[in-house]
Amino acid sequence: MSTAQILFDEALIKKYDQSAPRYTSYPTADRFHADFTEADYRAALKDRGTRANPLSVYVHIPFCNTVCYYCACNKIVTKDHGKSAEYIRYLSQEMRMVCDAIGDPQSRVLEQLHFGGGTPTFLSHEEMSDLMAQIKQAFSFTSDAEISIEVDPRKVTVNTVEHLSALGFNRISVGVQDFNPDVQKAVNRLQTQEETVNVIAAARKNGFHSVNIDLIYGLPLQTLDGFTETLNRVMDISPDRIALYNFAYLPQFSKPQRRINAQDIPHPDQKLKILSRAIELLCQSGYVYIGMDHFARPDDELARAQREGKLNRNFQGYTTRADGDLLAFGVSGIGKVGATYAQSVKTLEEYYAALDEQRLPILRGYALTRDDEIRRAAIQSLMCHFALDETAFGRQWGIVFDEYFAWEKTRLPPLVEDGLIELKPHTLRVTDRGRLLVRNVAMLFDRHLRESARAASYSKTI
Ligand code: SF4
Repeated sequence: MSTAQILFDEALIKKYDQSAPRYTSYPTADRFHADFTEADYRAALKDRGTRANPLSVYVHIPFCNTVCYYCACNKIVTKDHGKSAEYIRYLSQEMRMVCDAIGDPQSRVLEQLHFGGGTPTFLSHEEMSDLMAQIKQAFSFTSDAEISIEVDPRKVTVNTVEHLSALGFNRISVGVQDFNPDVQKAVNRLQTQEETVNVIAAARKNGFHSVNIDLIYGLPLQTLDGFTETLNRVMDISPDRIALYNFAYLPQFSKPQRRINAQDIPHPDQKLKILSRAIELLCQSGYVYIGMDHFARPDDELARAQREGKLNRNFQGYTTRADGDLLAFGVSGIGKVGATYAQSVKTLEEYYAALDEQRLPILRGYALTRDDEIRRAAIQSLMCHFALDETAFGRQWGIVFDEYFAWEKTRLPPLVEDGLIELKPHTLRVTDRGRLLVRNVAMLFDRHLRESARAASYSKTI
């Protein structure tokens, strides 16, 4: 099966099917350590206050009404809606403390705001209004700011969508995973097509610029025909973006996944057939492969940014905005400020205790070395543009590419022989056949991985 963008090569995928990081950050989060403390984070925030480079904010709402068995997110399943009011009070406090640490309001202008979870729509309308009011007090927004939210259609009415629009949200991401009722039952996520369609119709009617749908392949009881049917229904909805994730069945790490019947998981060969069919259908329907699970309509900003060489990647995946700082609020959030990463504590108890003591709730982090920054830029270029212009890269970073990456260059020939990459004069390009395996190419530039041989703890490439 071939398309202009991806060549699905089953033999090659099987050969390179190994555990690999997703590179939402480099170094990857498993390199973060507790020697990076609140004081380091405060220093990075203070430094940001002297700069005004692009800024994004991520707000993590950890609560969910029910548990989906496939889910590996940091979440708290509860029916007690009283919990979210308390959480918002602490979120507001964390925001005030971070803003005080940054200082200058000119350094607090947001290009992007994203609510993720958990289930952000677990919040009541009043709570959502309250939280947005706090955010607007702490930050100002650029006129074209992207304000996005992950929505669970099972709990959202047209009124909620109208309310979100009135608060300024202009992008929506809707979890679907699979429309098949047997699959939904097997993962404990019963969600009718009607619920999904209604939420998306309401979003479009209320001026949301962009609609994303999340799908997962490899779920229990999924079949080629069943998932094809789901894809056809999704094509009818015609979202601007589609994320197609691989289900990583890791019951040893995920308690909810232990409730999935192992015999119901599709065989790896079946999974590959489903992935191949999905890519074929999406490309035939005009979607462009952005990279790493993401597809977009050719007129979508992501596809345009990729064509213009302006695509970036951060903890939320691909973004059209310049590679700036990201502040994360809430439990387990990971932010990036200057040449540092910082992750917050993971439980409500730790989060509330830190804030009660007027401490920022930093669990661990990482200060990048210059080598890390150079490698981050190389990996970013591969993940976003499937290419590395060695001359331009060397000039940008003040290095002689061939000398700096001498070890890596000796490892490239087998990838060329296998057809994953092409080496043109001074340019490394990931081939159409290699695009689904771009992580495997990026791994070559990951010095930490090379030195620690930790690959076994990552999810499989496909
Ligand atoms: S998939 Fe979403 S709604 Fe389901 S448990 Fe995970 S975070 Fe909650």
